[in-house]
Formats: sequence, structure tokens, C-alpha cells
Amino acid sequence: MINPYFFCELCKDKHELKGKVNCLYNLDQNDWDNFMMFEKCPACESSHFYLQKDFNKILGCGIIIVGIIFVPMTYGLSLAVVALIDWLLYNQVPDSIVCYKCKGEFFGIKVIPKKILPFDHHIAELYEEPS
Ligand SMILES: [Zn+2]
Ligand SMILES: [Zn+2]
Repeated sequence: MINPYFFCELCKDKHELKGKVNCLYNLDQNDWDNFMMFEKCPACESSHFYLQKDFNKILGCGIIIVGIIFVPMTYGLSLAVVALIDWLLYNQVPDSIVCYKCKGEFFGIKVIPKKILPFDHHIAELYEEPS
């Protein structure tokens, strides 16, 4: 089990989420201590987060290609095997929580609050820089 940490896009650094957090952008330890509420991002104070699967797509595709290569030898069975491996890998990958505004990412969160939903374009638009 990994310890929870926050990859801070503002500092471009990893902050361990226990004890004192050395973030250049928010020195208020209270915010960092309460990160688990996901009421506000400790780094940028935004209040919107989304859930992300950290699935390695390149790895996933590689496995499928291997499956296809072995189709003639295994009469298609290899495809079923790689689909299974793919699915197992996908389920092994822990979710992370990303802040819409600063794109900082929380890893190793054991209990993800129900209010955190997958990426939503409508919310993301709120944080888009006007061009
Ligand atoms: Zn930081
Ligand atoms: Zn943020």
C-alpha cells in the first residue's frame, strides 16, 4: 500500500500527505491535514476534483498486440487470455483524484468520497483560461 501523496503541479513536486507539507503555494498545514475531505484543494483552493484511473494505456495496448500475434498458434485463445490480463491489470490500478484547477493529483487515497466523480467537461470549462 502506498502512502498518500499529492503531486503538486504548482511546485512540480511530490508532497507526502502526512506530517508537515512543504508546499510553496500553501503553507497552511490545516488545509493539508484536511485534504481527505476534498472540500478544497490544499494547493489552489479549488473545490472541484475528478476521479482518474491511472491505467497505463501503452502497456494495455502492448498486451493486446501480443495476443493478436499469438492468435494463429492458439486458435484465438490468446485473445481471451490477454483480455483477462488486461482486465486484471485495470482492476489493480488504484484511482487517483485530480484537481480541476491546478491539475494536482492525489495518490494512495484509500477511501474515495462518493462525491468525487469521473472527469466532467462542464466543470473543466469553468477552469479554462479564457483565450
Ligand atoms: Zn506544492
Ligand atoms: Zn488544486
